[in-house]
Amino acid sequence: MNTLITTLCAFLAMITLRVEPAGGIHPVITLKVRVHLMQSNTTPAMHTTLSETDIRRVFPKVNMIWAQAGIQFEIESIVLTKALPLPPEMRTQSMIERVLSMIPKDQLSAKAINVCYVKEMEPNGFFYREPVMVKDTAKLEAVPGGMDEPLPRVTAHEIGHELGLKHRQEAVNLMQSGTNGFLLNDEEIGLARMTAARLQMEQAP
Ligand SMILES: [Zn+2]
Repeated sequence: MNTLITTLCAFLAMITLRVEPAGGIHPVITLKVRVHLMQSNTTPAMHTTLSETDIRRVFPKVNMIWAQAGIQFEIESIVLTKALPLPPEMRTQSMIERVLSMIPKDQLSAKAINVCYVKEMEPNGFFYREPVMVKDTAKLEAVPGGMDEPLPRVTAHEIGHELGLKHRQEAVNLMQSGTNGFLLNDEEIGLARMTAARLQMEQAP
Protein backbone atom coordinates (compact mmCIF):
# COMPACT_ATOMS: atom_id res chain seq x y z
CA MET A 1 0.00 0.00 0.00
CA ASN A 2 2.83 2.38 0.98
CA THR A 3 4.53 1.69 -2.33
CA LEU A 4 1.35 2.61 -4.18
CA ILE A 5 1.03 5.87 -2.19
CA THR A 6 4.69 6.72 -2.88
CA THR A 7 4.15 6.00 -6.57
CA LEU A 8 1.01 8.16 -6.67
CA CYS A 9 2.81 11.05 -4.90
CA ALA A 10 5.75 10.85 -7.29
CA PHE A 11 3.31 10.75 -10.13
CA LEU A 12 1.33 13.79 -8.99
CA ALA A 13 4.62 15.67 -8.59
CA MET A 14 5.48 14.73 -12.15
CA ILE A 15 2.14 15.97 -13.48
CA THR A 16 2.59 19.21 -11.53
CA LEU A 17 5.99 19.68 -13.17
CA ARG A 18 4.25 19.59 -16.54
CA VAL A 19 2.33 22.76 -15.74
CA GLU A 20 3.85 25.23 -18.13
CA PRO A 21 3.93 28.89 -17.15
CA ALA A 22 2.66 30.17 -20.50
CA GLY A 23 0.01 27.72 -21.65
CA GLY A 24 -0.96 25.98 -18.40
CA ILE A 25 -1.39 22.21 -18.31
CA HIS A 26 -2.01 20.55 -21.68
CA PRO A 27 -5.69 20.55 -22.59
CA VAL A 28 -6.92 17.05 -21.83
CA ILE A 29 -7.86 14.90 -24.84
CA THR A 30 -10.61 12.41 -24.00
CA LEU A 31 -11.12 9.29 -26.10
CA LYS A 32 -14.00 6.83 -25.91
CA VAL A 33 -13.31 3.13 -25.36
CA ARG A 34 -15.55 0.15 -25.93
CA VAL A 35 -14.43 -2.75 -23.74
CA HIS A 36 -15.17 -6.24 -25.04
CA LEU A 37 -15.13 -9.08 -22.50
CA MET A 38 -14.63 -11.87 -25.02
CA GLN A 39 -16.75 -15.00 -24.50
CA SER A 40 -16.43 -18.47 -25.98
CA ASN A 41 -17.95 -21.86 -25.16
CA THR A 42 -15.56 -23.69 -27.45
CA THR A 43 -12.21 -21.87 -27.23
CA PRO A 44 -11.20 -21.36 -23.56
CA ALA A 45 -8.29 -19.06 -24.56
CA MET A 46 -10.83 -16.63 -26.04
CA HIS A 47 -13.01 -16.53 -22.90
CA THR A 48 -12.08 -13.91 -20.32
CA THR A 49 -13.22 -14.26 -16.73
CA LEU A 50 -12.86 -10.53 -16.06
CA SER A 51 -16.00 -8.74 -14.88
CA GLU A 52 -17.28 -5.20 -15.26
CA THR A 53 -15.97 -4.55 -11.71
CA ASP A 54 -12.45 -5.47 -12.86
CA ILE A 55 -12.71 -3.09 -15.82
CA ARG A 56 -13.95 -0.27 -13.55
CA ARG A 57 -10.84 -0.89 -11.42
CA VAL A 58 -8.42 -1.14 -14.36
CA PHE A 59 -9.41 1.98 -16.33
CA PRO A 60 -8.85 4.58 -13.58
CA LYS A 61 -5.28 3.19 -13.44
CA VAL A 62 -4.96 3.37 -17.24
CA ASN A 63 -6.05 7.00 -16.92
CA MET A 64 -3.53 7.58 -14.12
CA ILE A 65 -0.80 6.38 -16.50
CA TRP A 66 -2.01 8.49 -19.44
CA ALA A 67 -2.57 11.61 -17.31
CA GLN A 68 1.14 12.40 -17.85
CA ALA A 69 0.26 12.99 -21.54
CA GLY A 70 -3.05 14.73 -20.83
CA ILE A 71 -4.97 11.86 -22.47
CA GLN A 72 -7.92 10.21 -20.77
CA PHE A 73 -10.18 7.29 -21.67
CA GLU A 74 -13.91 7.26 -21.09
CA ILE A 75 -15.67 3.89 -21.16
CA GLU A 76 -18.43 4.12 -23.78
CA SER A 77 -19.64 0.60 -22.89
CA ILE A 78 -18.52 -2.74 -21.52
CA VAL A 79 -19.96 -5.54 -23.64
CA LEU A 80 -19.87 -9.33 -23.66
CA THR A 81 -18.71 -10.18 -27.18
CA LYS A 82 -18.93 -13.75 -28.48
CA ALA A 83 -15.77 -14.92 -30.24
CA LEU A 84 -16.21 -16.42 -33.70
CA PRO A 85 -14.99 -19.97 -34.33
CA LEU A 86 -11.53 -20.05 -35.93
CA PRO A 87 -12.10 -20.15 -39.71
CA PRO A 88 -10.43 -23.37 -41.04
CA GLU A 89 -8.34 -21.43 -43.58
CA MET A 90 -6.80 -19.42 -40.70
CA ARG A 91 -5.33 -22.47 -38.91
CA THR A 92 -1.91 -22.05 -40.50
CA GLN A 93 -1.76 -18.26 -40.05
CA SER A 94 0.22 -16.36 -37.38
CA MET A 95 -1.06 -16.20 -33.81
CA ILE A 96 -2.04 -12.54 -34.31
CA GLU A 97 -4.09 -13.26 -37.43
CA ARG A 98 -5.74 -16.29 -35.78
CA VAL A 99 -6.81 -14.22 -32.75
CA LEU A 100 -8.02 -11.32 -34.90
CA SER A 101 -10.04 -13.68 -37.12
CA MET A 102 -12.09 -14.70 -34.05
CA ILE A 103 -13.14 -11.10 -33.29
CA PRO A 104 -16.54 -10.24 -34.81
CA LYS A 105 -15.76 -6.99 -36.65
CA ASP A 106 -19.41 -5.90 -36.67
CA GLN A 107 -19.27 -5.59 -32.87
CA LEU A 108 -16.42 -3.08 -32.98
CA SER A 109 -17.32 0.58 -32.60
CA ALA A 110 -16.10 2.99 -35.29
CA LYS A 111 -16.54 5.80 -32.75
CA ALA A 112 -14.40 4.34 -29.96
CA ILE A 113 -11.11 2.57 -29.36
CA ASN A 114 -11.97 -1.13 -28.98
CA VAL A 115 -10.18 -3.12 -26.29
CA CYS A 116 -10.81 -6.89 -26.23
CA TYR A 117 -9.87 -8.99 -23.20
CA VAL A 118 -9.25 -12.71 -23.68
CA LYS A 119 -7.88 -15.43 -21.37
CA GLU A 120 -4.70 -16.65 -23.02
CA MET A 121 -2.45 -15.94 -25.99
CA GLU A 122 1.32 -15.82 -26.49
CA PRO A 123 2.07 -12.16 -25.66
CA ASN A 124 0.39 -10.18 -22.84
CA GLY A 125 -1.33 -8.11 -25.49
CA PHE A 126 -0.89 -6.67 -28.96
CA PHE A 127 -2.09 -3.93 -31.23
CA TYR A 128 -1.65 -4.78 -34.88
CA ARG A 129 -4.79 -3.04 -36.12
CA GLU A 130 -8.11 -2.52 -34.38
CA PRO A 131 -8.91 -3.86 -31.82
CA VAL A 132 -6.40 -3.66 -28.96
CA MET A 133 -5.99 -7.19 -27.54
CA VAL A 134 -5.09 -7.94 -23.89
CA LYS A 135 -5.04 -11.26 -22.04
CA ASP A 136 -6.38 -11.33 -18.49
CA THR A 137 -3.53 -13.63 -17.38
CA ALA A 138 -0.85 -11.04 -18.31
CA LYS A 139 2.36 -11.09 -16.27
CA LEU A 140 5.07 -8.41 -16.02
CA GLU A 141 8.49 -7.97 -14.47
CA ALA A 142 8.33 -5.44 -11.61
CA VAL A 143 10.54 -2.32 -11.75
CA PRO A 144 10.86 0.43 -9.09
CA GLY A 145 7.84 2.75 -9.14
CA GLY A 146 5.97 0.45 -11.53
CA MET A 147 2.23 -0.22 -11.73
CA ASP A 148 0.79 -2.40 -8.96
CA GLU A 149 -0.94 -4.91 -11.28
CA PRO A 150 -0.31 -6.00 -14.88
CA LEU A 151 -3.67 -5.33 -16.59
CA PRO A 152 -3.71 -1.50 -16.47
CA ARG A 153 -0.11 -1.36 -17.66
CA VAL A 154 -0.61 -3.84 -20.50
CA THR A 155 -3.83 -2.05 -21.56
CA ALA A 156 -2.10 1.35 -21.44
CA HIS A 157 0.92 -0.04 -23.36
CA GLU A 158 -1.20 -1.49 -26.17
CA ILE A 159 -3.23 1.71 -26.40
CA GLY A 160 0.16 3.44 -26.67
CA HIS A 161 0.79 1.44 -29.87
CA GLU A 162 -2.61 2.53 -31.20
CA LEU A 163 -1.55 6.12 -30.44
CA GLY A 164 1.47 5.60 -32.69
CA LEU A 165 4.18 4.75 -30.16
CA LYS A 166 6.90 2.17 -30.79
CA HIS A 167 8.80 0.12 -28.21
CA ARG A 168 11.51 1.95 -26.29
CA GLN A 169 13.55 -0.40 -24.16
CA GLU A 170 14.06 1.42 -20.90
CA ALA A 171 12.74 -0.53 -17.90
CA VAL A 172 10.59 2.25 -16.37
CA ASN A 173 9.11 3.30 -19.73
CA LEU A 174 5.50 2.48 -20.67
CA MET A 175 6.66 1.29 -24.10
CA GLN A 176 9.33 -1.13 -22.79
CA SER A 177 8.20 -4.70 -23.40
CA GLY A 178 7.36 -6.83 -20.38
CA THR A 179 7.92 -4.56 -17.35
CA ASN A 180 5.40 -2.68 -15.20
CA GLY A 181 7.10 0.71 -15.80
CA PHE A 182 4.83 3.43 -17.15
CA LEU A 183 6.74 6.64 -17.84
CA LEU A 184 6.68 8.48 -21.18
CA ASN A 185 9.17 11.03 -22.51
CA ASP A 186 8.25 14.36 -24.13
CA GLU A 187 8.66 12.99 -27.66
CA GLU A 188 6.29 10.10 -26.92
CA ILE A 189 3.79 12.46 -25.29
CA GLY A 190 3.87 14.75 -28.33
CA LEU A 191 3.35 11.91 -30.78
CA ALA A 192 0.60 10.23 -28.73
CA ARG A 193 -1.25 13.55 -28.35
CA MET A 194 -1.10 14.16 -32.10
CA THR A 195 -2.65 10.75 -32.83
CA ALA A 196 -5.15 11.14 -29.96
CA ALA A 197 -6.30 14.52 -31.30
CA ARG A 198 -6.97 12.90 -34.70
CA LEU A 199 -8.86 9.99 -33.10
CA GLN A 200 -10.88 12.43 -31.01
CA MET A 201 -12.04 14.15 -34.21
CA GLU A 202 -12.92 10.77 -35.78
CA GLN A 203 -14.91 9.86 -32.66
CA ALA A 204 -16.94 13.06 -32.71
CA PRO A 205 -20.65 12.38 -33.36
ZN1 LIG B 1 4.27 -3.57 -27.32
